[in-house]
Amino acid sequence: MRSKTKKMLGDPCEYCDGTVELRQLRVPFHFKGSTIYVDNVPVWVCKKCGERYFDALVFKKLENIARQRQRIQKMVSFPLADYATAPI
Ligand SMILES: [Zn+2]
Repeated sequence: MRSKTKKMLGDPCEYCDGTVELRQLRVPFHFKGSTIYVDNVPVWVCKKCGERYFDALVFKKLENIARQRQRIQKMVSFPLADYATAPI
């Protein structure tokens, strides 16, 4: 996920020139060495390569959410495997 923001509505993807559309997704957000997940984030997704972009305001809000992570109500646990040490 790029923390870089999209310049303008309707801009093509910076990497593949594909069409970018607005979606609402659960996204991982990295902040000061830890990661939180945020649901229903408006994010621009390239239809071709899947690259994601945040609007500047959205990014700012995600930073605020991460900064106040002690207020997060829900904790979700999930299985985490390690590809490198897994058998075939
Ligand atoms: Zn793309």
